[in-house]
Amino acid sequence: MSEHKNHAYWSERARQVDFPADAIINGAPTGSVSGRRFDCLSPVDGSPLCQVSRCNHDDVDLAVTAARTAFDSGTWSSASPQHRKRVLLKFADLVERNAEDLALMETLDMGKPISDSVTEDVPATVNCLAWHAEAIDKVYGEVAATGQDELGMISREPLGVVAAIVPWNYPMLMAAWKLGPALATGNSVILKPSEKSPLTAIRLGQLALEAGLPPGVLNVLPGFGHEAGEPLAADMDVDGLVFTGSTAVARHLLSVGAMTNMKRCFMECGGKSPNLVFADAPDLQEAANASAAAIFSNQGEVCTAASRLLVHESIQDEFLEAVVAAAARWQPGHPLDPQTSLGAMVDETQAERVLDYIEEGSRAGARLRCGGSRAEVVDNGWYIEPTVFDGVSPDMSIAREEIFGPVLSCMSFSSDDEAVQLANDTDYGLAAGLWTRDLSRAHQVARRLRAGSVWVNYYDGGDMTAPFGGYKQSGNGRDKSLHALEKYTELKATWINLG
Ligand code: NAD
Repeated sequence: MSEHKNHAYWSERARQVDFPADAIINGAPTGSVSGRRFDCLSPVDGSPLCQVSRCNHDDVDLAVTAARTAFDSGTWSSASPQHRKRVLLKFADLVERNAEDLALMETLDMGKPISDSVTEDVPATVNCLAWHAEAIDKVYGEVAATGQDELGMISREPLGVVAAIVPWNYPMLMAAWKLGPALATGNSVILKPSEKSPLTAIRLGQLALEAGLPPGVLNVLPGFGHEAGEPLAADMDVDGLVFTGSTAVARHLLSVGAMTNMKRCFMECGGKSPNLVFADAPDLQEAANASAAAIFSNQGEVCTAASRLLVHESIQDEFLEAVVAAAARWQPGHPLDPQTSLGAMVDETQAERVLDYIEEGSRAGARLRCGGSRAEVVDNGWYIEPTVFDGVSPDMSIAREEIFGPVLSCMSFSSDDEAVQLANDTDYGLAAGLWTRDLSRAHQVARRLRAGSVWVNYYDGGDMTAPFGGYKQSGNGRDKSLHALEKYTELKATWINLG
């Protein structure tokens, strides 16, 4: 980020942002049928940003009808892949051109540091949309191995109407992970952002229309889970439900999908990811810095956050000291200051939840090595110090439950077997990290970890080329890469009698 883009610059720019507040149904901005709106508050300082359409089942009905009509019309679903590619590339380009506004909306709406929004969220969103756009005219069907008298063609077809329900921790990027493959494959989509962070999703909807997406192909319904999400999940005319959010809500939605029209349901959920540091880690200082970043970035509100640190007992004291020293460099700051690396918690409810876990950890006997309290950064904002516990035992709630905040739980192990056993001792299976210079150990341990992503000698790497998703209760299906297309398409076998 250039030097003149300092705190004062972003504060001034924030005053100029035009916050999008209307739902988008059938290509038009709209209030909700009920006329109700909800306050969109900034966690930076508790100030109101705008009042957003509060959608419910009536708006869901309209959006599903619009999406179905658009799908059946074929304007998008039957358009050539080259056409879809062009429109989606333009969409990606418009996101890039609006980068500063989108980054500001993201930061003001959910509290993440502006430097993250600018350097990570927006570029990753652009890349995701462009990647799927570029991919879609390079995906071929198959021809079955048959005798001379018949021809078997295997093709992918769009599901139809897809509901995408997304969370608040990466509002724009999680929306893009759904929109990229869903739109590229020709579906019509109804996007429901979290009530805690609806702004960038609405802006994405506007930009998609500007790029040339036909009306009804992308509808955006801001609103609460029980009011807008639930009727979407239960709708008999929705063909697919893709979700990113908590495991508890995902479980419920799977049952709703099963009890209604058996819509295709794909869930990307929470995690309690382990980060294993062996005594032969290539660079302990680097591993300590990365271990801190892996839990404190995005305020710990990251599905893959390495919230459990497992350290070999022979290096435990030295390593934990280095982690605590690294944690000190993650002090909360004003999210609009580009120097800030730890921003505001998304809201009071989430902050209170994190503070409750911290209290419970101390009560259960874990040792607080640093942090543990609310930080006073901006009046009426919610900030929490980077917090490290050691002496954690595997049965404590801080070792088992997803806290979704800047709280690290440290344990030790004495052998590779124990490390793997502790790492896998969780209901989740989203990600894991391990640090060793021994190639055989790296491969062997990586194979034994029950997680959808494993990083060796770094954490949270990767790009659009590899699938992302979880084992166990971290979800099913995969986002990113060509594997994501599997969630948004049906496979059709067409047989022709040549005899
Ligand atoms: P959440 O489950 O509370 O909400 C997610 C979305 O579901 C929101 O849009 C919400 O309004 C909606 N919702 C809530 N109740 C609903 C209901 N009854 N019916 C329909 N929709 C409903 O999750 P959150 O707090 O927004 O997000 C944090 C969670 O997301 C964490 O568990 C995190 O690990 C997970 N997450 C997972 C990934 C991944 O890729 N695996 C990525 C980011 C976040």
